Amino acid sequence: MNGSVDYSKVRDLRLYRNIGIIAHVDAGKTTTTERILFFTGRKHKVGEVHEGEAEMDFMQQEKERGITIQSAATTCLWDLDGQTYRINIIDTPGHVDFTAEVERSLRVLDGAVVVFDGKMGVEPQSSKVFHQAEKYRVPRLCYINKLDNIGADFYRSYDSIVEHLTDRAVPISLPVGIESSFSGIIDLVIMKALLHKDDDGKIVVVEDIPSTLLEVANKYREKLIEMVADVDDDIAIKYLNGDNLTPDELRNAIRKAVLQLKLFPVMAGSSLRNKGIQAMLDNICRYLPSPFDKSFTVDDNINNIEKIYFGEVPGKNPVSDEIITRKLVEDEPFCGLVFKIMNDPHVGSLAFCRIYSGKLSSGTYIYNSSIDKKERVARILLMHANHREEVKQVRAGDIVAIVGFKETRTGQTICDENNPIVLESIEFPDPVVSFAIEPKTKSDLDKLGDALSKLVNEDPTFKVKTDQETGQIIISGMGELHLDVKIRMLKDDYGVDVNVGKPQVAFRETISVEGTHRELLKKQTGGAGQYADIQFILRPRKRGEGYKFIDSIKGGAIPKEYIPAIDKGIQESMLSGPIGGYPVVDVEVEIVDGSFHEVDSNTDTFRICAFYGFKNAMKLCQPVLLEPIMKVNINVPEEYVGSVTGYLSSKRGIIKNILQRGKTKEIVAEAPLSELFGYVGDLRNITSGTASPTMEPSHYAEVPKGLMEKFLGVDSK
Ligand code: GDP
Ligand code: MG
Repeated sequence: MNGSVDYSKVRDLRLYRNIGIIAHVDAGKTTTTERILFFTGRKHKVGEVHEGEAEMDFMQQEKERGITIQSAATTCLWDLDGQTYRINIIDTPGHVDFTAEVERSLRVLDGAVVVFDGKMGVEPQSSKVFHQAEKYRVPRLCYINKLDNIGADFYRSYDSIVEHLTDRAVPISLPVGIESSFSGIIDLVIMKALLHKDDDGKIVVVEDIPSTLLEVANKYREKLIEMVADVDDDIAIKYLNGDNLTPDELRNAIRKAVLQLKLFPVMAGSSLRNKGIQAMLDNICRYLPSPFDKSFTVDDNINNIEKIYFGEVPGKNPVSDEIITRKLVEDEPFCGLVFKIMNDPHVGSLAFCRIYSGKLSSGTYIYNSSIDKKERVARILLMHANHREEVKQVRAGDIVAIVGFKETRTGQTICDENNPIVLESIEFPDPVVSFAIEPKTKSDLDKLGDALSKLVNEDPTFKVKTDQETGQIIISGMGELHLDVKIRMLKDDYGVDVNVGKPQVAFRETISVEGTHRELLKKQTGGAGQYADIQFILRPRKRGEGYKFIDSIKGGAIPKEYIPAIDKGIQESMLSGPIGGYPVVDVEVEIVDGSFHEVDSNTDTFRICAFYGFKNAMKLCQPVLLEPIMKVNINVPEEYVGSVTGYLSSKRGIIKNILQRGKTKEIVAEAPLSELFGYVGDLRNITSGTASPTMEPSHYAEVPKGLMEKFLGVDSK
């Protein structure tokens, strides 16, 4: 480990690169990140994933599963053309169940390298992340990895990028040799071969392009220049005049096009064989944005026109709600976005923060404008996987971990109290799958609550509740794998063993008609009495509108001090609806009348009365079951479109769109999650393994009457 690197020597923000490495699972993100750390000098030994020692995959179970679950941020330095660049990398997971992790990383990144498996080309998850990155305006380089593998084909993989992702992709390097003879790359900007003559890839020999590859190199260089000329007038003129372009002219034009998301350079390499990594690092520095160059969009809420901001981050004034901006420099008032909370066994809760403007020093207080609270910055850390380095001050462009926050959560803005701004938060989908869990022993029970609350703080898509009737603990998340991981974390990180029930769909309950109800709680025989009397109207609200409480009591029929207790009693009651004990959503309660007793009424009697009153009222208002509907995207060759749409229809799916994606079709559909357990395997069978599906939660919809009993029979707890 090289702990003595002086990161502070890179002060100029233009030399910063905050990047992510994103891909489908197994394309080689972790290996690539490892090699970057190796070549930038942070590691002396190369850790390989299959040996279970890669440094970024520091969690025990990640090593066992060989996939990356939590984003780790790390920093390294790279020299290019006499300048030292500082590269901050966020490692992101590739599994569809961890979409929240990817989403929050993309939100704070300036640029990304999208890694593809040179045999597989575009896979569903790489396609999904590619499009997610578009939403956050993250400029991207494409890296076709594993070219040493049997069956690898750079050109076929490149074609699949053009077919499935974007026709703005173009190679800036080509492979020399393939499979076991893969030995380096051709740089299409300088038109030279960069060859590796040693196994650890440290030495790169610059040679003339082998004559057998000259023709293909000329063809792709021509294509590169043509595509750059499309978006750059100066280059277009030179190109038309037949003038020669210098490497710098071409590189500057490529950079400009990449920053505007108009060009996606494609590179060749093999991370495992240490080939193409130095060129990738050069290209990260050359073409990906510095914090200055990042652009943002916000929806203008008045005209719904998307406005693009260059070099400044837009947010809202928390008081006036007006859109305001901060320049991405250190002379502006401080603002940053917390994108991850992580519990660390040694220092406690770590808040990962992307700083957009100004400076932040340890030992000071900052303002959390999202929740209107002050928080103390006890310590500031730079992260390197599980190793960390303490720093006194950080500034615009930095990605850091802060120790000392008590209430700050993922997606919240921290800023200068005198210059408040609220940045756009990060949206997370609601959990859709649940398991009941049960501690195995008394000692497991004692530790469980604390462990679960830590896991909940870390992951905004992981929820825990206790079933009111059975006392069972229910955990909910984004998919079966997501919850498996949490159960493993309980065991490995907190030493808590639990028994796990079958996966259950996260149903909800609501009502379909309005009703008026009066609940009377009256026990006045013997001892201290109990009295509460509440009359209220229960009304349905639209999907997604949530719960609303209205107090319309006049003349003190119920004293003011009891009203919050009524609200509380209703919310407790809503945790478990009358149909199957699922949470109640989208209802409005208006308290219109009631009565009380001077001696026998108190906040408790009103809370209990509201609790039962709500349950009874629900039954009057034709309660219905709601189920999560998933948005499903499936890429298939044309000939399978019929069988796939037929399959989806048999699963109560609705086909929304069928798009042409190069030679294949993309089917966009919606279908209930309850029908989709095992659908990946079904699709594989129907399409002879050619379909590439993804799914994500979309919305809740009413369960058809005929199916309600089936679900409650199968799934009732
Ligand atoms: P991730 O899931 O995207 O993080 O992928 P990993 O880095 O964990 O790699 C998945 C598997 O592919 C591991 O067994 C790696 O050793 C292997 N791998 C990664 N890069 C290469 C490569 O360039 N060539 C070959 N042959 N295998 C690779
Ligand atoms: Mg990995």
